[in-house]
Amino acid sequence: MSRLRAGWSFLAAAALVAVAAYFAGAQPPFSLVLWFLAVLAVLVREPAPPRMQEEPTERMEAVEATLSQVESVLGALDLPVVVIDGDATVLAQNKAAEKAFGPLLSGLHISTRWRSPGILDMIRETIETGEPNQIEHSERLPSERVYIVRSAQVEKLAGALPQLFLLSFRDISELRRLDRMRSDFVANASHELRTPLASLRGFIETLQGPARGDPKAQERFLAIMLDQATRMSRLVDDLLSLSRLELKAHIAPDQTVDLIPVLGHVRDSLAPLAADLGVDIRLHLPEGKVEVLGDRDELVQVFENLMENGCKYGQEGKVVDVYLRHGDGAPVEVSVVDHGPGIPAEHVPRLTERFYRVSVADSRSKKGTGLGLAIVKHILTRHRARLIVRSEMGKGTDFTVRF
Ligand code: ADP
Repeated sequence: MSRLRAGWSFLAAAALVAVAAYFAGAQPPFSLVLWFLAVLAVLVREPAPPRMQEEPTERMEAVEATLSQVESVLGALDLPVVVIDGDATVLAQNKAAEKAFGPLLSGLHISTRWRSPGILDMIRETIETGEPNQIEHSERLPSERVYIVRSAQVEKLAGALPQLFLLSFRDISELRRLDRMRSDFVANASHELRTPLASLRGFIETLQGPARGDPKAQERFLAIMLDQATRMSRLVDDLLSLSRLELKAHIAPDQTVDLIPVLGHVRDSLAPLAADLGVDIRLHLPEGKVEVLGDRDELVQVFENLMENGCKYGQEGKVVDVYLRHGDGAPVEVSVVDHGPGIPAEHVPRLTERFYRVSVADSRSKKGTGLGLAIVKHILTRHRARLIVRSEMGKGTDFTVRF
């Protein structure tokens, strides 16, 4: 059928040539000869090679079947993976890749999505040598992320399928963030310890030198030295607390703790400090018991930090109110409310970061280490509880623990 159609088109073309030759001035016999020659050419021309239509279709179907198998295996992976062929054309992507990078159009070159020369060179090298490669690559959108991108050749699959290559993307943004946090933390901790240490060294040198025979100066300097040494040991205690809490961060506490005596105990232990600052800590507690699953000592530490902050930073409000609320089905909540100057809104989200302070000078003058709320947050995370901070400038601050 198709051969016949091809023959007819040759005949029609030959007729056109003959008619054109006639109009161009050729004698009718000459155009008849042309016509005759064209017909002859059609009859004796080589038979058309047999059409290969069936074979590529079968092959395409086989490729697609294999690709869909590969896709369903890769679909179970939470690592983004893109499958390409030896021309770096995208053939498939798994769900994780679609989630991370959006849908990729199969059949297009990989450079339509990743133009970074690093990635393209790496892919070219893997395709040429068959050796796996990897590079670090950052994506800016939709959010800043860092990936280790790896290209590798897939062992040849059964059948005459194209050679497949896999691109996998390991997200190391979180690791990088933790690394940065850790090194910031060491830098901050060293800085916090170095300041009192430098001051201690200075006073020791003064006592050994100019103040050697001056008992009054000696007394004054020794008092300051004691203060600095106490500050260092407070800092070391807080650092140790944090590292102990980190070690057991994933173990939820299983004791039952009644919050009413805990809050009473904290109020009593802070009474001397509150009296010094002229602040009254008022407890507003319900009758009976209010129990939560927790670690008593750690909960004491949480409420000590919150009430102490309320007294120190909300001193001018003169009163710190502590409310314990619970009800049918409602979560147990403890709110520590001061009536001090409040915290500017831009600082609130960062208060629980280690060493974060609204005012470093203010915190130091109040014997703060900048670690109190970081410890609170760690303890509450272990207790599956949340810290909610509401603050209004000029009115005060409310730190609520919701269990
Ligand atoms: P510090 O040891 O400095 O008190 P925290 O982690 O306990 O460290 O608190 C971090 C910072 O949060 C404090 O330095 C202070 O600036 C601010 N802050 C905490 N509680 C209050 C509060 N009740 N009122 C105002 N500011 C507060």
